[in-house]
Amino acid sequence: MSEGFTRSTKQRTIIIDLLARLNRFVSAQELHAALRQAGSTIGLSTVYRNLATLTKAGDIDIILREDGEALYRSCSPQHHHHLLCKSCGTTVEITAELVEAWSHDIAHAHGFSDVQHTVEIVGLCRACRS
Ligand SMILES: [Zn+2]
Ligand SMILES: [Zn+2]
Ligand SMILES: [Zn+2]
Repeated sequence: MSEGFTRSTKQRTIIIDLLARLNRFVSAQELHAALRQAGSTIGLSTVYRNLATLTKAGDIDIILREDGEALYRSCSPQHHHHLLCKSCGTTVEITAELVEAWSHDIAHAHGFSDVQHTVEIVGLCRACRS
């Protein structure tokens, strides 16, 4: 096992741990700032690279904010959707049986297979509303 591999694995572990503790969707810049605050000397480009790897592996969730900025969160491994506060990023993992059934039925009715879907609900959380 090379030195580089060990280091990048450790970096990814730190990123996942921090994302889990933040418990909301954050941008790469926000995550980078939080890592620096925690004493890490990790560079922003390394954060981007690790986030890309983790996203590709399905270890973290990614969504796109209205302005196109990617946001990341450490989520539960089961299929779920998000209820997202557009002000503070607070996130609730939700299940949506109706969406699962509907997306399956409508896709198959049109002859589609290997179907995936993305459904996020965005709004203002109780704390931000008051
Ligand atoms: Zn998620
Ligand atoms: Zn909020
Ligand atoms: Zn779904």
